[in-house]
Amino acid sequence: MRFVLLGAPGSGKGTQAGVISERLGIAHVASGDLFREAVTRGDELGRQAKSYMEKGFLVPDELTIRMILERIVAPDCAKGFILDGFPRTLEQATALDRALGERGETIDRVFYIKVATEELVRRLSGRFICRSCQTPYHLVSSPPKVEGRCDLCSGELYQRPDDLPETVRKRIEVYFEETAPLIDYYKEAGKLVEINGEGEIGGIGERLIAALPQGLKWE
Ligand code: AMP
Repeated sequence: MRFVLLGAPGSGKGTQAGVISERLGIAHVASGDLFREAVTRGDELGRQAKSYMEKGFLVPDELTIRMILERIVAPDCAKGFILDGFPRTLEQATALDRALGERGETIDRVFYIKVATEELVRRLSGRFICRSCQTPYHLVSSPPKVEGRCDLCSGELYQRPDDLPETVRKRIEVYFEETAPLIDYYKEAGKLVEINGEGEIGGIGERLIAALPQGLKWE
């Protein structure tokens, strides 16, 4: 069970990857989270990734590919994984296919969560995240009970520097320039399934689950 979730920033792919990973008991591998963890640790990877991330640019392929290929051979990926935020370029997609192919493995299915651009901007620029447990909130659609505090752990809520409105537009632009060709790549490979990413979170999850390959064993 090896899946890829494609979708612009703000498409809700992180939330949906969490749902799939829990339901199937497979690892949720989110490249953005791995980079943010590296930045927090302040290690070499984090130092190199930081300046790109702050501007809303993609981190260079070489660094990104190395980080993900190392991550997907970890023991918790043995049963399978769902990739969230990777691949973002054709170069990354072909490197992933090559690495899996060498082990006789393949990506089984690719889900593309589709959301209109204006809706993406609206969602991202109102997004706040808990510093302690990473739970996301939205000023309009899912505000916390107490302003600035997480409902679950009372942690401090903050806005990611790359969720500021001008950076949000840049990230969406970068996404469509760099990532849209992946949609054709996976379509040609016969692996792409399009999911309507607008509407209720629960409804989107149901559509995604209905699009999983038949005969999967649920947790
Ligand atoms: P995300 O949380 O997926 O929106 O990612 C946050 C930031 O991490 C992006 O804006 C990029 O700077 C970087 N990043 C995450 N995934 C990738 C990737 N596959 N390739 C290059 N940069 C990435």
